[in-house]
Amino acid sequence: MSKHRLRGRSNRHLRPKRYDAGMSVSPLALLTGKCPRCCRGRIFKPVWGRTIMSMNPDCPNCGLHFEREPGYFVGAMYVSYTIGVALVLPVALVLILLAGWGVVPVTIIAILETLVLMPLAFRWARVFWLHMDFAFFPR
Ligand SMILES: [Zn+2]
Repeated sequence: MSKHRLRGRSNRHLRPKRYDAGMSVSPLALLTGKCPRCCRGRIFKPVWGRTIMSMNPDCPNCGLHFEREPGYFVGAMYVSYTIGVALVLPVALVLILLAGWGVVPVTIIAILETLVLMPLAFRWARVFWLHMDFAFFPR
C-alpha cells in the first residue's frame, strides 16, 4: 500500500461532514431566505409578532451557526448599500429626468423610499452575504 493512500485513508474519518463540498448557491434558498447549507431552515424569524430584523442564531433544521464570528455581518452592509442604491436611484432618475421634479422633492421621496425599504434590504443583504460566504467557504 502506498504512502499517499495511507495518509488519505487515515484522515477521512476525522473530517467534519459537509452537506455541500463545492461552490454552489441554491437560487431558490437565496430568494426565499433559507439556510445556505440545508436550504430548508429559515434564516430570519417570521415577521409577525417580532421585529422584521429578528434573525435566528442557528439554522432550525441543520444547526448551522449563521454569525461565523463577531462582526461577521459588517460585510453585508456593502450589499445593503448596493441594494439600496439599486432601488432608489432608478426612481430618482425617472422623477428628475422624465417627470421634471426638483431636487428637494426627489430627495424627500428617496429618503422615504429608503426608510420603507431598509428592513427588506437588511434581510436581503444578510441572506445574500450568508449564501455568498457559504459558496466560497462551505462548512
Ligand atoms: Zn440549515
